[in-house]
Amino acid sequence: MKINLAESAGFCFGVKRALKIALELARSGEKVEMLGDIVHNEDVVEGLKKAGLSKIKKLGPGKGKTLLIRAHGACMATINLANQLKYKIVDATCPMVKEIHRIVTDMEYKGSRIIIIGDKNHDEVHGIAGQITGKAIIIDPQKPIPLKEIRGIEKAAAVVQSTQQIEKTLEVAGKLERLIKTFEFFNTICTPTTLKQQEIKVMPLENDVMIIIGSKKSANTKRLFEIARKLNKKTYWIESKGELKFQWFKGARSVGIASGASTPDSTTREIIETIEKQQRVLNSP
Ligand code: SF4
Repeated sequence: MKINLAESAGFCFGVKRALKIALELARSGEKVEMLGDIVHNEDVVEGLKKAGLSKIKKLGPGKGKTLLIRAHGACMATINLANQLKYKIVDATCPMVKEIHRIVTDMEYKGSRIIIIGDKNHDEVHGIAGQITGKAIIIDPQKPIPLKEIRGIEKAAAVVQSTQQIEKTLEVAGKLERLIKTFEFFNTICTPTTLKQQEIKVMPLENDVMIIIGSKKSANTKRLFEIARKLNKKTYWIESKGELKFQWFKGARSVGIASGASTPDSTTREIIETIEKQQRVLNSP
């Protein structure tokens, strides 16, 4: 059985950058706290904790401590509170998320109501909404447009959570364009996500089985799974090698492997090695 690994598999540059910053801080000997998970991957977070970084749920007294802002960014209220509490802040927000922050701040200043196309429970979306002084309208592309909220808006600008699916996003943007007199749309889906989504539209059609690797908390992994599953019913989403099942590969000539932006290469490697080992056992006389 042939194993085909997606070219775009593994950490995106935003995650790599955030981890590099985190590890440098750990080595510096500073007392560093991360508010929540730096990226949505339990193994990575555990690794950083071992390196000496602590994960906190709430900000506390910050004197003598460094607060690491994660790749998804944070809202202004958190930054302001951290400053008041005397934290030293190190910002590992992905530059692509920073660009979304810049757009919403600028468009609000120019008088537009801000719309975010994304998942209202995701940290990145909270961070974007928390850059502006007004209340952002958050539209989940999986749900109907909240017409009540949109009605009466004359001028609006929409941005997108960086890991959203392009087709659904464009559908929402098209509907908003018809409903709002002056409407500007900024496609802020990031480049690594676009590349991953392009590959995932082809791989499930070219392989008998698809394995998607990544944390169940990871939004971009979830979307990879959803796209792949629609194209190939034999698509499985796993976090680690222990979840692999022999029977998935029965009769398969090829397996495609894709992983989310916060999945370490080491996890993907372990999974590939386990599949190879299983195949050797099956094929041994
Ligand atoms: S998925 Fe995109 S926006 Fe998010 S950290 Fe990676 S590069 Fe940045």
